[in-house]
Amino acid sequence: MPVPILVYHQIAIPPARRAPFRSMAVHPHAFRRQMRLLKRIGFQGLSLREALPYVNGRKTGKVVAITFDDSYANVHENALPVLRECGFTATNFVVANQIGGRNEWDLPLGVAPSPCMDLAQLRDWIAAGNEVGSHTMDHARLPELSTEAAWNQIFLSRMTLEDTIQCEVSAFCFPYGDQLPVHRDLAVEAGYSVATTTSRRRAMKLDDPFGLPRLTIRRNDTWLHFLRKCLVG
Ligand SMILES: [Zn+2]
Repeated sequence: MPVPILVYHQIAIPPARRAPFRSMAVHPHAFRRQMRLLKRIGFQGLSLREALPYVNGRKTGKVVAITFDDSYANVHENALPVLRECGFTATNFVVANQIGGRNEWDLPLGVAPSPCMDLAQLRDWIAAGNEVGSHTMDHARLPELSTEAAWNQIFLSRMTLEDTIQCEVSAFCFPYGDQLPVHRDLAVEAGYSVATTTSRRRAMKLDDPFGLPRLTIRRNDTWLHFLRKCLVG
């Protein structure tokens, strides 16, 4: 059975109309409704690490993988309690140089500053059974970098996160979903087990584990949109 891998960014009250990337903030109430809906229809929400056996067919069951990009502090504040309440786990893709920092990469695009989880919040996240993955050192656009600089973004972020948080980091997420074939190979060489992109469908057994598709959940997704993404992809 194909596994939907959901992507969220901020779980927060969306910014004013016309703000850039406004659709990337899902209201905390909407997030709670979505998680409760999954639970009610018998789905288990899992981190990528725990969902992987279902993607590659070693286990069967109704599961949804839940991922958060960019490690916003509002995910700690607004999503973690809901995940706990539902008995779900999730993966948080962290920008290694912004632990306790903010979304510096978004500011030139006019996006409002928003804090990233600090070390204590990341430790909380892990202690609740959740996973931390890497989203590079600086939220880099990899195709614009030399191979050496891309390697540093991919490999050093894993080392830095493992050192800082003291847990294994085995999932990688390409910023902006941007990757060339060489970046896939670098992610393999850097020791990750999986990498995600942003192609929009559910993940299947024959998918390349270093190019797993994901489904972005947006601010204005109704429960029907949400359900359709989970059930049909
Ligand atoms: Zn990102």
